[in-house]
Amino acid sequence: MPIDDTIAAISTPIGRGGIGIVRVSGPLAKNIAEKAFVSKSGKEPGHFQLRYGQVMDGGNVLDEALLSFMEGPHSYTAQDMVEFSCHGGFASVRSILELVVRLGARLAEPGEFTKRAYLNGRIDLSQAEAVLELIDAKTKHAQLGASGRLSGSLSRKVKSSRDRILGLQARIEVSLDFPEYDDEAVSSEDILEACLDVRKDLGSLIESFDRGRLLDEGLKVAIAGRPNVGKSSLLNALVNEDRAIVADLPGTTRDVLSEFIHLGGMPLKIMDTAGIRQSRDAVELLGVGKSMQAVRDADLVLYVVDSSMGITDDDRRVWELVKAKPALGAANKSDLDVKPGFLEACAEIGIRFISMNAKDGEGLGELKDAIQEMFFTGGIEAGADEVFVNIRQKAGLDKALKSVDAAVAGARANVSPDLISIDLADAYKSLGLIIGEEASDDLVDKIFADFCVGK
Ligand code: GDP
Repeated sequence: MPIDDTIAAISTPIGRGGIGIVRVSGPLAKNIAEKAFVSKSGKEPGHFQLRYGQVMDGGNVLDEALLSFMEGPHSYTAQDMVEFSCHGGFASVRSILELVVRLGARLAEPGEFTKRAYLNGRIDLSQAEAVLELIDAKTKHAQLGASGRLSGSLSRKVKSSRDRILGLQARIEVSLDFPEYDDEAVSSEDILEACLDVRKDLGSLIESFDRGRLLDEGLKVAIAGRPNVGKSSLLNALVNEDRAIVADLPGTTRDVLSEFIHLGGMPLKIMDTAGIRQSRDAVELLGVGKSMQAVRDADLVLYVVDSSMGITDDDRRVWELVKAKPALGAANKSDLDVKPGFLEACAEIGIRFISMNAKDGEGLGELKDAIQEMFFTGGIEAGADEVFVNIRQKAGLDKALKSVDAAVAGARANVSPDLISIDLADAYKSLGLIIGEEASDDLVDKIFADFCVGK
C-alpha cells in the first residue's frame, strides 16, 4: 500500500450513536475538506482547530458537523488529517465517507492510519501494537499496560538493551582494530559483565509475559475428574450459583461450562468439564473431546476425586490425561466415610489434596488459598513500572536472550571477541524486530491486519 495517497474511513462503530467520525489522512485531506465543508464562520480551521458548519454534497446539506484539522507531521498519521464529527448512525457517516471518496480519497485498509503513523516514524511497532491492545483491553490492567506501552515503556527498555549491545560491539571493534591501544582493550570479563546486565533486563521482560497474560485474561482453571465425583458441585460452590447441572446420573455434564470468579483481585476462569472416561455415547464423547481441550488450555487443573470411593481405575486414567499440568487435588465428599487406603493412594499420585465437601462448601477456603499460593506468591498487583509484553514481543526477546546466552558462554570460555560479536549482532537484530526496526513488510502487514478499519 502506498502511503502518499489520501485515505478515509469511518472511525466510530457503525450503528446508532450520538456522534460518528469520518477520518481522512493524506495530501488531499485539506482540499477535500474545503470542497465538502462550509463553515458557519466562513473560516477554515487552522492546525488543531475545530470549525462548526455543514457537510455539503453539491447543493445538498448532508449533515451538521464539526471539522477538525491536524497538519502533518503533527498529527496521528504524521500527514495532513481532517476529521468530520457528524451525527452517528448509518446514513450520515456513510454519505460523508462516499462524498470524501468521490473527492479523491480511497477507502482505508484496517489499521492503515496507525500503519502510516508507524511508517512515518511517529511511533514504533510495539507502540502500534499497543494501540490495538488498548482498543481490545477488557480489564483495567490490560488498559494500563497498553497505554504504558503506547507511550513507549517497552520501546525504551528495548532500546536501552540495544544501545548497550551496540556499545559493547563498538568496544570489541575498537580493540580488534587498534590492538595497540591496550587500555581500550575489552576483556572477556568486561564482555561477560555487560552481557549479564542485558540478560537480566531481557529475562524480566520475558517473565512479564505470563504474569501479564494472567492479569489480563485471568487464570484458566479446569475442573477434571471422572463422572459423579462432584465437579459440577465444586464449580457451583465456587461460583455460588446454580448454572451447572448437578445430577446423580454419571456422564450428564456434557458441555464445558465456564464461570469467572475473583480470587483476591485476580480473575479466575473456571471450566467444568464433562466426565473424562471411555464412552460409547457420541454426544458424551464430544464433551470428552472438549474436556481435553479445556485441560490443555488450562493453567491449573483441579483434579476431583470422591474420597468415599477411593482412587478408582477411572480416576487413575483421568490422572494420566491431566498429570502434565500444574494440579491441585480436591478430595471431595469428606462428609462421607473415607475409603480405606485413600490417603495412601493420594500420596502416591503426589500432588497436594485438599479435603472438601462441595455440597456445603467445606474446604473451599483452603482450596482458594492453595490456588493463590501456587500462582500469586509475588502478589497480584502489578508494579507501576512493570512492562508486560505480548506473545510476538516475547518471541523476539526469547531469540535475543538465546543469542546473549551464547555470547555469555563465549565470554566464559574466553572465545575470541569477534566471534562473540556475531552473537551480539543477532541479539541486536532480534530486539530490533520488537520495535520494528528490522521488521519485514510481511510481519508489518500481519500485525496491522488485526486492526479495525478507521484506526
Ligand atoms: P460430576 O459428575 O463430577 O460433575 O458430579 P456432580 O457435581 O454432578 O455430583 C454427583 C453427585 O455427587 C450429586 O448427587 C451430588 O449431589 C453429589 N455430591 C457432590 N459433592 C458432594 C459432597 O461433597 N458430598 C456428598 N455427599 N455428595 C456430593
